[in-house]
Amino acid sequence: MIVCKFGGSSLADAGQMKKVAEIVRQSDDRTVVVVSAPGKRRKEDEKITDILISCHDRAIRGEDVSDRFAAVRERYTEIARDLGLGTDLTGVLDEVEADIRGGADRSAVVSRGEYLSAHLVAAFLGFEFVDAAEIIRFSDEVTVDGAETDGLVGRRFSAGARYVVPGFYGGFADGRVQLFSRGGSDISAALIARALGADIYENWTDVSGLLSADPRIVEDPAPIRRVSYRELRELAYLGANVFHEEAVAPVAEKNIPIQIRNTNEPDHPGTTIAGLDERGADEAAGGPSARTTGVAGRTGFRTVLIERSMLSKDAGYMDRVREAFADAAVPVRHAVSGSDSLLVVCPAEPLEAGEDGLKQVLSGKLDAERIEFGSPMAIVGVVYPSRGVHAGVLSRMTAELERSDVRLRYVSVGESPHTAVFGVDEGNYADAVRAVYRGARAE
Ligand code: ASP
Repeated sequence: MIVCKFGGSSLADAGQMKKVAEIVRQSDDRTVVVVSAPGKRRKEDEKITDILISCHDRAIRGEDVSDRFAAVRERYTEIARDLGLGTDLTGVLDEVEADIRGGADRSAVVSRGEYLSAHLVAAFLGFEFVDAAEIIRFSDEVTVDGAETDGLVGRRFSAGARYVVPGFYGGFADGRVQLFSRGGSDISAALIARALGADIYENWTDVSGLLSADPRIVEDPAPIRRVSYRELRELAYLGANVFHEEAVAPVAEKNIPIQIRNTNEPDHPGTTIAGLDERGADEAAGGPSARTTGVAGRTGFRTVLIERSMLSKDAGYMDRVREAFADAAVPVRHAVSGSDSLLVVCPAEPLEAGEDGLKQVLSGKLDAERIEFGSPMAIVGVVYPSRGVHAGVLSRMTAELERSDVRLRYVSVGESPHTAVFGVDEGNYADAVRAVYRGARAE
């Protein structure tokens, strides 16, 4: 069986909803459909979720919500009419508007986008509507009770029946609704897929899968056909805007493959995210080359170089430095040491906030002879499917960086068996991404 989730752009209007219905009807295996709230129909349009958020904000400030809520009302009424549905949403819409005016809490208001969307899709498909608040159980504002959710989902769904569930929220045991973070319908569907032991989790969106580099920087990057859960996590850690980890973890636990597909191009295979063993030995990742999966990075780092002679002889020194950074609430992204020096890479913002305190501890208690706070830095890395970077790929990437006049501030290989990372001046970030991509591309 397949759990399929459709994002906001797939439900933006009646035309999009018809495409969704066609996809769902194509296979009897698509038994659970998870939906987002209607998204933008065109660039300047507003997402229903954003309108509901602004309605709630206005109500809290004691302002009138009539105009704003009219936009919500209009959108659902129009979709129902264009789909030719007899469903009368007036009652539910009136209730939502009354709740907003009555000061209902944010989750209760904002979740109604998905709630109404699921009602429409269920009516259009002739499937049963199941409220997410009944089956996805939160134990506090940010934590889902996995075991309880598995049990509730397992008991609520029967084999042979087909369902539509709103994404983006669940509920507490006392019935109160709780939202996930933005884009959270992906998490809802992953939790349901795990609970039901689905064969596939399909995530239908408006792109034909993941790309191997940021298309705003690299022209026409290669699509990724298959990627392991692990490679995907590495890409996200390096800075790629890929599938949310919280939506991967539940299905990865059960080795359920995720397929990212395009509602507007349903025959395109998209990207499959699966366990490593899922990838056939002869099947290439389809990234920049068979040897590399993708290139990603981010700006916003700074370095601290700490010098102290014979540092390498002091076994506990590194631990004490880490402690000093932790005390100053500065996360350490990388730390590499030489005989007399230690280079620490940190996110710039917390480092700048903790700079004075850190300087004091490092030069005082930790006896550093010299401390140098480096200029802004970016990190660019490559992820590859096999363990261990191929030396040829590495040398081509560094050659390309040289050709682009990018000075390397540090190189790290082996910190993960699946990545190589380059630190470069922040101003060189885009050039560095393109250079690393070109190097990664060559076989
Ligand atoms: N509608 C919500 C949002 O815009 C959740 C989702 O689409 O997954 O963030």
